[in-house]
Amino acid sequence: MTSELNDFIRQRIIREREAGLLPQGVVTRFPPEPNGYLHIGHAKSIHLNFGVAEEFGGSTYLRFDDTNPVKESDEFVQAIMRDVRWLGFDWGARLTHASDYFEQLYQFAIELIEHGKAYVCALSNDEMRDTRGTLTEPGRESPYRNRPVAENLDLFRRMRAGEFPDGALVLRARIDMASPNINLRDPVLYRIRHVPHQRTGSAWPIYPMYDYTHCISDALEGITHSICTLEFEDHRPLYDWVLDNVSVSCHPPQIEFSRLGLEYTVMSKRFLHQLVEERWVDGWDDPRMPTVAGLRRRGVTPGAIRDFCHRIGVTKQDNTIEMSLFEFCVRQDLESSAPRGMAVLDPLRVTIRNHPGHHESLSAPWHPQVPALGARDLPFGPSIFIEREDFSEDPPPGYKRLRPDGLIRLRYAYIIRCEEVVRDAAGTITELIASYVPESRSGSDTSGLKPPGVIHWVDAAQGVSARVRLYDRLFRVPEPRVANLAEDFNHDSLQEVTAVLEPAITATDEMRFQFERLGYFCKDAEIAGVFNRTVSLRDSFKP
Ligand code: ATP
Ligand code: MG
Repeated sequence: MTSELNDFIRQRIIREREAGLLPQGVVTRFPPEPNGYLHIGHAKSIHLNFGVAEEFGGSTYLRFDDTNPVKESDEFVQAIMRDVRWLGFDWGARLTHASDYFEQLYQFAIELIEHGKAYVCALSNDEMRDTRGTLTEPGRESPYRNRPVAENLDLFRRMRAGEFPDGALVLRARIDMASPNINLRDPVLYRIRHVPHQRTGSAWPIYPMYDYTHCISDALEGITHSICTLEFEDHRPLYDWVLDNVSVSCHPPQIEFSRLGLEYTVMSKRFLHQLVEERWVDGWDDPRMPTVAGLRRRGVTPGAIRDFCHRIGVTKQDNTIEMSLFEFCVRQDLESSAPRGMAVLDPLRVTIRNHPGHHESLSAPWHPQVPALGARDLPFGPSIFIEREDFSEDPPPGYKRLRPDGLIRLRYAYIIRCEEVVRDAAGTITELIASYVPESRSGSDTSGLKPPGVIHWVDAAQGVSARVRLYDRLFRVPEPRVANLAEDFNHDSLQEVTAVLEPAITATDEMRFQFERLGYFCKDAEIAGVFNRTVSLRDSFKP
């Protein structure tokens, strides 16, 4: 099957396939470091890597880049697997870890040493930094650079045996201290870390660096397209150098694309960590977070994320995508799939004085355009709630809601007339007294009345109270300044109200709803009785 998408990576694959260069199909990998939860940027990479393998025939590895045991944990591993599956992808038996290759990586390092391509260096971190040079100045060679091969082998084996403390020695590639590309100025391949690893325990006191590990892991898995983000472009010569200098038979091409940036949020795991650890948010799955877990809890579906990833496409231009595009995709997806019910977020009681007293059960479709979603019973009794802002004593011109002596239609029910406004001692309106027009029932209205609008409502006696969380942007500005996160953070991004819901909403197993006129909402998967607003109905953030 050929993709309907047509970015530069897919075009390249089509060309290669036509030239007969991909006899085994496309093999890709998604290589997260298990040091945090996945975010929407990772989702873009997942859609690309799993997507091209699905479209062109092939397979995708989920490979944990677990070379830094200090920051990595099993909680993150489990969360990543859950999120990739939830996004709709299956790695089958191709679950791997960079740590699966520690022994092979070690043997390849021995090879490099034997060929005079790597050496054990005793410079400290500071000394290495000071001798690395700058963009305009070459670096200076380490005094250990010309250590004899036998001595390098001996030292490296003793590093591996755990004879030296952390930081005492490193293994460096012997490339070119004068290279215009700083990544090639004898980069570190291995360092000593006496830290237990979540998978290999204390078997290894030395750990390979990312740049060394990644390319060899790709080669060992027979990856045909090693797709990564643009910041690795300068690392590509090192990727190629390693594979050119070890005896591995496969040499995948590294292909870079631009990372996703999204307005009003941060994407770097470092800052997401900060938000979680400093408790600016309530965990990685806080519905305000740009994490996959947060978006899921908020009510975003995998389909909306897929649509978003397709719309933004894959390019080499760095850009920040408008939040309104993401929200558009979320609305599009929920528009015809989410049942529509009624909830009142700021309840004002309306007593219907001519109501016969017993509850009437009205029937209303769950979706006006999607009959397949079925219908629900809507109780209508002598006391109901309407939204406080749907009543005004002093309405502006063109006001289409309820006013003193005015008429309004209650959605799926009757027309009511406001007859009296009740206040407390402080003057606050506490209740409206109204009458209803019995012959105005929706669907069989013979009243001939023309109310100015339709409002939502919930029966007061049978309505169910719920905590509803309304979210605003996590940051106040489209591009938060990372040096100044605290100042740009929106400390009012969560508002909780006690709302009243029509009873059918809490009676079904359905998770997602449109609350008419208020937005899309999702039952919180963690806290019973809480609903999260996924997205409002319109783009209220546009100027
Ligand atoms: P961060 O810089 O936020 O810590 P990372 O790139 O180190 O993220 P990894 O776990 O190494 O996170 O990422 C796994 C894969 O996801 C990599 O191939 C990386 O290029 C890709 N990726 C990470 N962030 C983005 C993003 N914002 N847009 C697209 N792809 C991304
Ligand atoms: Mg990374």
